[in-house]
Amino acid sequence: MSVTKPSPDPVHIIGAGLAGSEAAWQVASAGGRVVLHEMRPQRMTEAHRTDGLAELVCSNSFRSDDAANNAVGLLHAEMRRLGSLIMRAADANQVPAGGALAVDREGFSAAVTKALNDHPLIEIRREEIAGLPPADWRNVIVATGPLTSAPLADAIRELTDESALAFFDAIAPIVHKDSIDMSVAWFQSRYDKVGPGGTGADYINCPMTKEQYDAFVDALLAGEKVDFKDWETNTPYFDGCLPVEVMAERGRETLRHGPMKPVGLTNPHDPTTKPYAIVQLRQDNKLGTLYNMVGFQTKLKHGAQQRVFRTIPGLEQAEFARLGGLHRNTFLNSPKLLDSQLRLRAEPRLRFAGQMTGCEGYVESASIGLLTGLCAAADTRGHSLAPPPPTTALGALLGHITGGHIETIDTGPRSFQPMNINFGLFPPLSSVPTKKPDGTRLRRNEKTVAKKQAMSARALADLDRWISDHLHVAAAA
Ligand SMILES: Cc1cc2nc3c(=O)[nH]c(=O)nc-3n(C[C@H](O)[C@H](O)[C@H](O)COP(=O)(O)OP(=O)(O)OC[C@H]3O[C@@H](n4cnc5c(N)ncnc54)[C@H](O)[C@@H]3O)c2cc1C
Repeated sequence: MSVTKPSPDPVHIIGAGLAGSEAAWQVASAGGRVVLHEMRPQRMTEAHRTDGLAELVCSNSFRSDDAANNAVGLLHAEMRRLGSLIMRAADANQVPAGGALAVDREGFSAAVTKALNDHPLIEIRREEIAGLPPADWRNVIVATGPLTSAPLADAIRELTDESALAFFDAIAPIVHKDSIDMSVAWFQSRYDKVGPGGTGADYINCPMTKEQYDAFVDALLAGEKVDFKDWETNTPYFDGCLPVEVMAERGRETLRHGPMKPVGLTNPHDPTTKPYAIVQLRQDNKLGTLYNMVGFQTKLKHGAQQRVFRTIPGLEQAEFARLGGLHRNTFLNSPKLLDSQLRLRAEPRLRFAGQMTGCEGYVESASIGLLTGLCAAADTRGHSLAPPPPTTALGALLGHITGGHIETIDTGPRSFQPMNINFGLFPPLSSVPTKKPDGTRLRRNEKTVAKKQAMSARALADLDRWISDHLHVAAAA
């Protein structure tokens, strides 16, 4: 590897939220200069309330801290191994929350603000970047989040040639394939259509009788819904998708003539009985471990979704990788627009980080900030950082953002949706544990636990190898 002097140009980071703050810390920790531009308090967003850096806009939870059994807990562990400021500040400001990592939000934000303020290589400028950054900023990270200010969002939209950047996400639930009961459900495409890139058996189908359909519609109508916030009311719907419960309100048969139509499909488990309605699930990731419920975008509260959707035959034991939802969000069509270094293909001096890239959640946003910080720091040294292995939580999330999602013709031109980290984004294990250490066979639920633990152990071992192969070399150079 050639060794070059660090570039005297600073890394300009726009937005000091979860992602931008972590990115600034990583660049400065690697010896790079940073100018961090944050528009608050000069200009506030609709959700932020303070001038603190890394303000948590809603819940104070970083979710599970169980690195052995939970994908977000694993992400915490990986970030700690990489010296994350966000994790350090969270650990120092923890409040009791069972197995979750919850924080005192003011203490957390104050700790991040102080660490960045005190760092000699970081300059913080309180200003809005109201358009594309000046051309002489050669190494830029845009981390302006789901509530990016309008002038910058408009400039990015024009640059990327996308028709829109802020949407109501119409998010449908995503299910782990191995939790679907295939003795009830079956693989088939409507009319066995092969289509471009299909096999004729691309969808998982769940059949319903008339009684089951009627009970399902009643449950949808009765289920508790989330309200829109005032400031969300002027944002357009993404692809004009209507929530499933709104379709049900329009008439009892609406769903049966829409996403649940029972035509062009034959149930191989009971070929002579025609289902009254059918729920379809479509492959959501290249690995084939996750399936999304087609047309099931919803504003039902999370508890109601789990209860109602588990009444669908075949989904009684469904494990959800993500539940549905509708909320305003600003995010790029990253698989199309960003390269594996999170640079905009159309203008590589601009890197993107945080929720704008299509991850979802505080921890995920901070983790992508961490990766972009490492990449930008490597750039200042004239290196290109190899991405973390896809078997790690960081690599799995990066894979989802920059290439793991599959586009299908019937979901429209932009089906990429933000996603939390989950084990469905990881490549399968080469051998799945079947026995306990004492040689007895694992039961079904024990197998699921053993699988997650084996994936976590693989992730941490692979991350350690990546750190010693790539980051120690970079730091030494
Ligand atoms: C209303 C709402 C509630 C949410 N609740 C949760 C939750 O409970 N739990 C969870 O895990 N996730 C939640 N999220 C999702 C997401 O994880 C958070 O929004 C997270 O803060 C995203 O991190 P980020 O760094 O990408 O953006 P942010 O943390 O929002 O940081 C972006 C920063 O950029 C600044 N900025 C914007 N435009 C400009 C500009 N032009 N120039 C300079 N600065 C600018 C903003 O002021 C802000 O400080 C929520 C999102 C929203 C919108």
